[in-house]
Amino acid sequence: MRIAAVIVAAGRGTRASRQDSRPKQYVPLGGVPILRRTLETLLVCPGITLLQVVIHPDDGNAYTTAIAGLTPQPLSPVLGGPTRQASVLAGLEALVPLAPDIVLIHDAARPFASPDLVARVAAAVGPSCGAIPALPLADTLKRAAPDGRIDGTLSRQGLWRAQTPQGFPFAPILSAHRAAAAKSQNDFTDDAAVAEWHGLAVALVEGSERNRKLTTAEDIEMAERDLQRAALPDVRTGTGFDVHRFAEGDHVWLGGVRIPHTRRLDGHSDADVALHALTDALLGAIGDGDIGQHFPPSDQRWKGAASQVFLEDAARRVRERGGRIGNVDLTILCEAPRIGPHRDAMRSAIAGILGIEMGRVGVKATTTEQLGFTGRREGIAAMATATVVFRGSL
Ligand code: MG
Repeated sequence: MRIAAVIVAAGRGTRASRQDSRPKQYVPLGGVPILRRTLETLLVCPGITLLQVVIHPDDGNAYTTAIAGLTPQPLSPVLGGPTRQASVLAGLEALVPLAPDIVLIHDAARPFASPDLVARVAAAVGPSCGAIPALPLADTLKRAAPDGRIDGTLSRQGLWRAQTPQGFPFAPILSAHRAAAAKSQNDFTDDAAVAEWHGLAVALVEGSERNRKLTTAEDIEMAERDLQRAALPDVRTGTGFDVHRFAEGDHVWLGGVRIPHTRRLDGHSDADVALHALTDALLGAIGDGDIGQHFPPSDQRWKGAASQVFLEDAARRVRERGGRIGNVDLTILCEAPRIGPHRDAMRSAIAGILGIEMGRVGVKATTTEQLGFTGRREGIAAMATATVVFRGSL
């Protein structure tokens, strides 16, 4: 079964762009001309072996630029006529020597036809039956009177919006187009209408909202925004900050590591200010409250608790939402103890608690030049950021 595609790209359509005087099929979308996107989609559809593009006589250079490097290359383009219908006929005539079994006729300005949709259409074409993708009407139909008021409401029952590619057995649709041209019947707005007029049955298959025709400048701008959104990965960031004061003691817990010191940090749990800041950063990245909400100091269960429990809980919440921790970064603010000698032990402890590799954990420290409460050695502050990556895109 040889399947050919005729891509109608001969229209002027310059109304489509505000900044760009080129016909819309050559306007770049995400940096790629719309026509090229349309061709790329058809090229990955199994079974399509011949691509025949119909272009406007003025567009030779634009076309050559648009398809540069495309593999496989389409057949040499043919020039279109004064109407879409005439352009389609020119494309069909060019395919006659190649005698395909099926032809799919497609608008250049529908770059979002998926391979699935194209395959559905091709599969529904029979020896004496065409097929087109279509969608039911969702909006209520109004008829307007000349004064702009509503004259009536039409039933939308049984009504469908026709899309392309429209698929047909090659010989019958060629006959239909030739007959329509011979009889100067040239006001058909799609190829299914030509087929119907000539007595060729046409079936409807499921279309797709994504397969919209880019007609106006607004259509192209919306499509551009959609593409930009699709290209942005869903990465979320959170920040955390915490402070604990010093009290009588001989060690502090920092970043999951026990460090001998002349004081301890005061708090309901083990007062690991670094792990608390990290916990809040992760909770912030997934928009799930803060450490005080999940582990209230009033709850006796957390008295003297190892702060590892809090950070483990935050990591669990991230995983439950389908997130992956991209990295965490911690800054500890104090005059003493010195953090440097314990940095890698903290990174290792944190990586272990979060279940990520150590390369994704940053631990840094700074003094505050003896300024403020940390400078006066009244306590330790810690700040943290975390990124969480979700599958898909924004
Ligand atoms: Mg705290």
